[in-house]
Amino acid sequence: MEMKITVIGMWGGYPKKDGPCSGYLVEQDGFSMLIDCGSGVLVKLQEFIDLNEINDVLLSHYHYDHASDVGAYLFSRLVNTQLGRVDESLTIYGPQDEMKEQEFTSVPYTEFQAIDEESELHIGPFQLNFLKTIHPVETYAMKISNGKKRFVYTADTSFTKGLVDFAKGADLLIAECSLYEGMDGKNSGHMNAREAGMLAKKAGAHKTLLTHLPHYGNIQKLVESAEKTGAAAVELAQPGMVITI
Ligand SMILES: [Zn+2]
Ligand SMILES: [Zn+2]
Repeated sequence: MEMKITVIGMWGGYPKKDGPCSGYLVEQDGFSMLIDCGSGVLVKLQEFIDLNEINDVLLSHYHYDHASDVGAYLFSRLVNTQLGRVDESLTIYGPQDEMKEQEFTSVPYTEFQAIDEESELHIGPFQLNFLKTIHPVETYAMKISNGKKRFVYTADTSFTKGLVDFAKGADLLIAECSLYEGMDGKNSGHMNAREAGMLAKKAGAHKTLLTHLPHYGNIQKLVESAEKTGAAAVELAQPGMVITI
């Protein structure tokens, strides 16, 4: 009855060679869902699971580094349905957006369901709740619980008190950390390493993964800055990392 979380990718903005943008595979009791499907995720994901085995895809928002591989995913399901390799449609959950909904559901065997702060989803063994974040486009942080343990994914956001309450007591916090300590996250809709650490510390997260990392500087410094705030068990997310809670 444990949740297995696999980091598929963790770069902010655009992928590195062999290093995808945001994507997290969550599995329990033979049930699998994908959270975010950014650039590079579809290739890397196949190292860990057959694309036909995923039941649901949750998108925090529609920036390319979180959602650009969804279209190709839908095509893979279309082809594999026609080949008789899968017989279930794929449900995409994401913020309400008529153009996106139309784009997704124009591909056969795809369904779309909008999420907002009022949504409480029960998907397989998981319960999901959402918090609107501070970001230039409508974006949702997610809390995923299996009834015993829970993890919180901040998606993209500036630091906000609301996120501290939302992440209270999380067994695992996956916190975006786009900037180095001292850099201004408020105006860009992101958190710096100190803010990510503060969030973890104030929420009392048992373990924290820093994710959505910058393409410059020494990323180990992000961990040092976050640890200085008193946050417990801080690590950098990296592709292929598996955490069981
Ligand atoms: Zn992003
Ligand atoms: Zn974004």
